[in-house]
Parts: sequence; structure tokens; C-alpha cells
Amino acid sequence: MTIFCAKRFLIRHLNMQLPLCSKALVMIIVVGQISEEEGLRIHHLYPEGEPHLEETDSRIKGRPDLCLLATRAGDEVQLEGSLKAMVEFDCDRCLKVLSLPIDQTFDLVYIPPLKPSGAHDEKELGNDDLSVGFYQGQAIDLDDVVREQVELALPMSRLCKEDCLGLCQQCGADLNEGACQCDGRESDPRWEALKELKFDN
Ligand SMILES: [Zn+2]
Ligand SMILES: [Zn+2]
Repeated sequence: MTIFCAKRFLIRHLNMQLPLCSKALVMIIVVGQISEEEGLRIHHLYPEGEPHLEETDSRIKGRPDLCLLATRAGDEVQLEGSLKAMVEFDCDRCLKVLSLPIDQTFDLVYIPPLKPSGAHDEKELGNDDLSVGFYQGQAIDLDDVVREQVELALPMSRLCKEDCLGLCQQCGADLNEGACQCDGRESDPRWEALKELKFDN
């Protein structure tokens, strides 16, 4: 069972630059620092609202709590842990702000990027039931792990309730709170003006 998109990880990690001189705080694990005997235990309480999500219609609220054990066999890394966070997003129909507590557990395997002659390797990966991601530059970006887990936890359809009536397309009223004045009639003055134009010509 593949629970996250390895290809997307590959692209992200190819673009990733190690923040050696950067001021930006990025949580990364340097692969070489994971002890092959004892692993590396990480408990990180993020600052308020971090890391920023790539999607603009959802955001992290409060302080995400990331707890994991990284283990390593050669250059293969396994991350087992949990993420607790509060995420806020808008109802797709009425734009009401909704919040969702997230409590995800994960078990992820990371390997270095595949060699270009990848066809054979991809087949091997496909036979494996583990979800596999790639790391680049000897480091794994934990912010991306958090983002990915948040994405997985968010529902596909983001509605305040299944039968949300949404907003009136003419006046913007929330139809969950009752019918608006427009109610089927074309009351937008701009449309009326257009109609008149048509008749005049
Ligand atoms: Zn709604
Ligand atoms: Zn209306």
C-alpha cells in the first residue's frame, strides 16, 4: 500500500537546498547522524502555525507536535512516529472556517534517488508494499513529512456538512441560514442593463 506519492517527494527533494547558511528554520535529519545501532529519536514542537502548507486553502493552527524514531540500515532510512496538529480550512461551498484535529501515525521509508536507468528499480519498488520516498543531499526534510501527513489527514471533500447549501451566486448570502431575497430571480442590476442593451440594438 502506497500512502504517499513518492514521485512528488522526489521532485520536492531535488529542489530542496540544504539550509546551511540560510536563516530559514527547516527541520531536517542528516542521514549520517542517525545511529545504525540506536537510531535517532526526535520530538519537535513546532512554532505557532508552522510549517506553512503549500496549499493556500488550509493552514496549520497552534503548535504541531512531531514525535518520531529514525532508524537506518546503510542509506535506507525508516521514520516511525506520530504527528498531532490542528488544521484549519474553508468549507468548499460556504467558505465557513473549519478546524480539524489531526493525530496521524506514520511509517515511512526513504532511500537515496534512484539511478537514471530506473526502469528495473521502479519495478522492484512496485513489488514492495512499503511506501518509499526519496531523500536528496543526505538529508530528510521533516517539514515535508509534516505537510504530507496533514495532506493525508484532510478529507477529500471539505464541507461543513454533506448537504451544505453554499453561497448564493448573486448576493453571496449563506443559504444554510435561509433563502435570500434573490431566490431564482435575476436581480443583479448588471444583467438588467445588459438586457436593455440587447433590446435597444
Ligand atoms: Zn459549508
Ligand atoms: Zn441571493
